[in-house]
Amino acid sequence: MTGNRVVVYKGPGEVAVESFDYPKLEIPAEVARGMGIKQDAPHAAILRLVTTNICGSDQHMVRGRTTAPVGQTLGHEMTGEVVEVGSDVLFVKEGDICSVPFNIACGRCRMCNEGKTGVCLNVNPDRPGSAYGYVDMGGWLGGQAEYVMVPFADFNLLKFPDRDQALEKIMDLTMLSDIFPTGYHGAVTAGVTTGSTVYVAGAGPVGLAAAFSAQVLGASAVIVGDMKADRLKQAQSFGCETIDLSQEGSLPEKIEQILGEPVVDAAVDAVGFEARGHGANAGEAPATVLNDIMSVTRVGGALGIPGLYVTGDPGAADENARVGRIGLDLGTGWAKSLSFTTGQCPVKRYNRKLMNLILAGKANIGKAVNATTISLDDAPRGYREFDQGAAKKYVIDPHGILAR
Ligand code: NAD
Ligand code: ZN
Ligand code: ZN
Repeated sequence: MTGNRVVVYKGPGEVAVESFDYPKLEIPAEVARGMGIKQDAPHAAILRLVTTNICGSDQHMVRGRTTAPVGQTLGHEMTGEVVEVGSDVLFVKEGDICSVPFNIACGRCRMCNEGKTGVCLNVNPDRPGSAYGYVDMGGWLGGQAEYVMVPFADFNLLKFPDRDQALEKIMDLTMLSDIFPTGYHGAVTAGVTTGSTVYVAGAGPVGLAAAFSAQVLGASAVIVGDMKADRLKQAQSFGCETIDLSQEGSLPEKIEQILGEPVVDAAVDAVGFEARGHGANAGEAPATVLNDIMSVTRVGGALGIPGLYVTGDPGAADENARVGRIGLDLGTGWAKSLSFTTGQCPVKRYNRKLMNLILAGKANIGKAVNATTISLDDAPRGYREFDQGAAKKYVIDPHGILAR
């Protein structure tokens, strides 16, 4: 049987593609032991990957900003063809092309039953919620690879209705594993609806997906803030207004110049704990975005916070931030009666509807985030360029299917 090749974290700033065994229909020993369940996984499927994307969430690990050990496998944004199913997989079939939600979920626990698949209780002995190829998530193998094992396959996999159509729209559909649902979740939980004015912090792929989603939801104006000119240009390419936070002036003033008032109806944090302060040479200031969105959202509004915050950051600038304690102006949020939604996006809540939108030709998300294909061997270059702020979403094509 063929082996597998997987992207692995080798230390700060470094990844490599390494050889592994072909995946087995087994859950990680750590999860089986920790959760007291059998390792044998007849509910699992193996996918030959068609696409697998690099994410800003991977970068937190690769920058050495988490407790990920050297050797941590990477990748959680997979789309692929089912090539093997266990005896308890009843509905997914070999040959199906499917999107894999980045959240690993059992489909059987209280949280899964409530649709909260980002905090499944049965897949991670360290804490609720899990993902492929991620630190503190139970040791599930990463999917920046040729093959990946998906547990609870009937529950987790989203099958595309038509194979040829799926391959034709793959650069859009590949975003269903994470950033399109995540951006959409950010916009929905910020209360975006018909006519809303919206501020999205961050013009990385998640910010762009949130901005695009706000448009899908009918926003009247979407403003994207970042310090990276190329990324802001990318946001302009599909009709967003932009704010360059490296320039002089406060955020409310800049919003007022665009909207005629210094507030928006809804705001999204698509940055997370590695946020930088405002100004040309500002350093890291992890509470910047949370404080920004509290300050510019109208009273009674809501904040969507897909940006990731951690409980441990070995690379943080001060002792508090090292344990995830950052300087929030919570009084501002309280006084304005703002509501907050944080955490992993429960991908399954949205991926089917967003798939339908893509298949109907109504959501060109791949273009909005500038999806760019690379080979698996080029993954280290993709990580490097993405870390330097390239205005691209890197899509790995591990079997050269798209290249052909
Ligand atoms: P990214 O690193 O490519 O983008 C972040 C952007 O934020 C960068 O362009 C950076 O210049 C910008 N930025 C930094 N400080 C800023 C500030 N003060 N104001 C505005 N912009 C600022 O990452 P990404 O792939 O777009 O992901 C964004 C965040 O979303 C990450 O924290 C990632 O871990 C998280 N994420 C969460 C989920 C979820 O389920 N909640 C899913 C995917 C990604
Ligand atoms: Zn991701
Ligand atoms: Zn569950």
